[in-house]
Amino acid sequence: MAKNTESAWRSWLLIALIVCAFFSMYRMNPHAPATKEIALLDFYRAMEQGKLVDPVTRVFDRDEGETYLTGEMETDKVDAKGDPLAGGDGAPVRERYRVTLVPGENSSIMDDLLNNSIRVEVKEKRGAISPFVMQLIFFFGFMFLFYWFFYRRMGSGGGLFGFGKSKAKVLTSAEEKRKVTFADVAGIDEAREEVQEIVEFLKNPADFKRLGGKIPKGVLMVGPPGTGKTLLAKAIAGEAKVPFFAMSGSDFEEMFVGVGASRMRDVFAEAKKRAPCIVFIDEIDSIGQKRTGAGAIGGSHAYEQTLNTMLVEMDGFDANEGVIVIAATNRPETLDSALLRPGRFDRQVVVELPTLKGRREILALHGKKIKFSPDADLDRVARGTPGFSGADLANLLNEAALLAVRKKLDGVDMETLDEARDKVIWGRERKSAGYSQKDREYTAWHEAGHAILQVLLPDADPLHKVTIIPRGRALGATMALPERDVLNRTKKHFLAEMRICCGGRIAEETVLGDISTGASQDIAQATHIAREMICRYGMSDKFGFQAFMEPSQFSGQDLPPAFSEETSREIDVEVKKLVDDAYSDAKKMLKANRAKLETLAKLLLEKETMDGREVEKLVRGEETEAG
Ligand code: ADP
Ligand code: ZN
Repeated sequence: MAKNTESAWRSWLLIALIVCAFFSMYRMNPHAPATKEIALLDFYRAMEQGKLVDPVTRVFDRDEGETYLTGEMETDKVDAKGDPLAGGDGAPVRERYRVTLVPGENSSIMDDLLNNSIRVEVKEKRGAISPFVMQLIFFFGFMFLFYWFFYRRMGSGGGLFGFGKSKAKVLTSAEEKRKVTFADVAGIDEAREEVQEIVEFLKNPADFKRLGGKIPKGVLMVGPPGTGKTLLAKAIAGEAKVPFFAMSGSDFEEMFVGVGASRMRDVFAEAKKRAPCIVFIDEIDSIGQKRTGAGAIGGSHAYEQTLNTMLVEMDGFDANEGVIVIAATNRPETLDSALLRPGRFDRQVVVELPTLKGRREILALHGKKIKFSPDADLDRVARGTPGFSGADLANLLNEAALLAVRKKLDGVDMETLDEARDKVIWGRERKSAGYSQKDREYTAWHEAGHAILQVLLPDADPLHKVTIIPRGRALGATMALPERDVLNRTKKHFLAEMRICCGGRIAEETVLGDISTGASQDIAQATHIAREMICRYGMSDKFGFQAFMEPSQFSGQDLPPAFSEETSREIDVEVKKLVDDAYSDAKKMLKANRAKLETLAKLLLEKETMDGREVEKLVRGEETEAG
């Protein structure tokens, strides 16, 4: 988006410049209607009638070799009724005049002016540059600026005048020197093996063909953000030592219809010139969404053009030419099926979130550049980061290094690694966020409600931390971490999650007697879980082993729900039932543990952050005492 605002900004600046240019041309015109050339006689008449405004300026213009008087006079223009014209505030209308004096015959005029007690200012206009020359200079100046803009935009492609130029970035020679190779990619071995073949082909197309290999034209990399899709595509180019053109689907979102399409043509034209090479299109879903036919409105038309152009280009070349298009997406289900037809993106490489082993490898790879203290255990970090992508892990190490520098440590230690991990998951702590004691109280009770249930429910993930220090947009957080990589979730787990969601609101209500907006995220979460259980996972008693396709969340192309309106209503009822059950269950549990809730909330107000184990001790410890 930053790119778009920048080009909009440039366009505006350009328009402003043009306006200025015209305006200044107008001002430069010496015969602009604002100054009226009058006869000497009229000047005298005005002087006698007392209409000359004090002072008068006598100008000797060197260039023209003439002297003239200039200043303002009140006009005796009249309106239709014969009354003198008046300005907005009733003042008489003034007019700028200029009267050229006959050479050598102006001393008497000076006397007359002085007799009428009108001051005379004397000026000499010595500008070696005549107004005409000035105009020329201005004109060329602006032409130059114009050209400069135009040129700049062409250079980087896009903007108001760079209509069709491609935005594809080719690696510069400096970047090419420190090429990305497979050695820079860790933890996604399967994907890496799958693309090995492409490298072989690019390295030696003739051999590859002779042996009967079939070369794909398009490869679709599918996987969550940050798993290394771009990195892998770059590594393919690096290994094969071929140019790498990179762009993003969002680069084709332009203000004019047709710009995206022509940009696409440019990319392919350039790529064909430099084949064998790799064209990488990130976020392909932003141009390759399913075409909706009748339902399509406005904007989607431009995408369709871009998409069609890309398909035509891909169909138009022979795979043997050596242009391989690699596209990345994390939402393959939204892609138009035309993209996936044979001869187009008919090969898919799935890039998954790394497993425990993969995370270890990625941490080791990125950790090479970092100095650790002896207690730092990257294995433990790998275990504590299920669900992290490669980019998240790289980010974690980076944050840890920064934190260590700020703490003036000799090396990154375990505590700092933990801190960095929390920051990557839950956002940065905002200690300075000025929030009132009342906000803190609400947050303490709210989080205590979540945390107690997190510990009490056997099917919930272990509690990692609970805090009332604001982080990101939340005022507090109850942090749970799954014990190991989660590949499969159970119904009991979902039910527990829903109960935990309810805990915050219930605690506020039972103790403080009022409820806050702090629960909005929890409410959304609980509702979402209930709906997913019913529609996707067949986990409701009422509907059992059935799936209901939900309207797609993606804008502009809602699919018709694959069920009747009646079913839809029944689903709503069932969602409500699941959520209501969770709420009343959670309420019962918190009521039974009211004393612990109170202790925890008070401790939180005091300590701000508590470790999962501390809370567990508190909850279980008192449990044994009571039982
Ligand atoms: P994607 O294209 O899938 O969104 P990127 O390739 O842009 O992800 O990854 C962003 C960064 O994260 C990379 O530049 C790299 O530093 C790091 N990264 C991601 N995955 C890996 C991986 N498998 N191995 C090493 N580094 C990775
Ligand atoms: Zn909450």
